[in-house]
Amino acid sequence: MHEDVKGLICEVGRRIWMRGFVAANDGNISVKVDDNRIITTPTGVSKGFMTPEMMVMVDLEGTVIEGSRRPSSELRMHLRVYRERPDVHAVVHTHAPQASAFAIARQSLETRTMAEAAVMLGNVPLAPFAMPSTEEVPDSITPYLKDHNVILLANHGVITLGEDLMTAYYRMESVELFAGISLSARMLGGGVELSDEQLQRLYQIFNCQG
Ligand SMILES: [Zn+2]
Repeated sequence: MHEDVKGLICEVGRRIWMRGFVAANDGNISVKVDDNRIITTPTGVSKGFMTPEMMVMVDLEGTVIEGSRRPSSELRMHLRVYRERPDVHAVVHTHAPQASAFAIARQSLETRTMAEAAVMLGNVPLAPFAMPSTEEVPDSITPYLKDHNVILLANHGVITLGEDLMTAYYRMESVELFAGISLSARMLGGGVELSDEQLQRLYQIFNCQG
């Protein structure tokens, strides 16, 4: 069941690996398929070489319903997202290098220097450091979930949310691209911010809140 979802998770896994957003067995992906069922990636495998039968189905408590493998210990972060944000149906977590550079420097990403990023990403906050694999991780992101679809995890990486998997994945591509552009702009003296008025017009044109 849900072969299409499992296949798409494998495809997104392949893309995050090909793009160098993850190394070795890093990263995790999940999709909420109905009110109480989530399909997620297994622990201990490269996300670039997954097959549909490796996927794990869990309930909202994280109990495995289907599949012979174990889910990632970071699943609890995904579960918190689904609990707090009923509109979200997919979560992608990677160590995308340029976005993660901001995360390890403990700097949030100010997107008002670039029109596309301001519209697509909004501001990208930095969640405080949390010990991986503990309940600290979901607790650290919870205050940011209401208003953000992209969050940096201090000294760790980045998480993106979406109403579907491709939206969450494209946000990952976009935040990594923008982080790289921001780093390059710093070598040129830093990006120039759009004014409040320009941002307001931008949001009106693209019909969003920023
Ligand atoms: Zn991670």
